[in-house]
Amino acid sequence: MSEARDGSAATFSERLADWNVSELPVEGALLEVVRAPASVLSTQGGEVDPTAPEIVQLAADLVATMRVSPGCVGLAAPQVGAGVKVFCVDVSEHPKTRDHHGTFVLCNAEVVSSSKNEKAREGCMSVPDFTGDVKRASRIVVRGQLPGTGEVVTFAANAFEARALQHEIDHCDGLLFLDRAAGAHAIYPRKTYL
Ligand SMILES: [Zn+2]
Repeated sequence: MSEARDGSAATFSERLADWNVSELPVEGALLEVVRAPASVLSTQGGEVDPTAPEIVQLAADLVATMRVSPGCVGLAAPQVGAGVKVFCVDVSEHPKTRDHHGTFVLCNAEVVSSSKNEKAREGCMSVPDFTGDVKRASRIVVRGQLPGTGEVVTFAANAFEARALQHEIDHCDGLLFLDRAAGAHAIYPRKTYL
């Protein structure tokens, strides 16, 4: 069956779920996470060549940095000071998660279609002092490219993974969850730290 052009036939991606950071031929290094109001966080990220050595290295670095950060379910390139469209996601350890694709990195990702809005609390390593209620689609179809090979993957994501993807894609477009909250009443000081 061929993919519908708008991605409406997209489903869970076995290829994405099977992807592992060990496919990348480099070791990830730990990077410092920048905090708002760093200007890179509000800058539109550029498209990348997923096969370029510096992007492959960035992909490995993002995963390494996410893994040492407690409670971190995603990290985008602007958060480590690189204004480009690359991010990693891994919601597999999160209690709110049902189905998910494990750890993966996407380049040049975009939301192809979305449905069913749902409001939930979000936090961000670049905004450590606040959380916020943000309305997001709970089912989305995303298209992006894998680092290293540049393979295009189009897949459906649900629930918490869909939320994490939208949060990271926003980062790549220069948007924080604070920009998506309904207003000051939907922003809360964080009382406990991980
Ligand atoms: Zn974030």
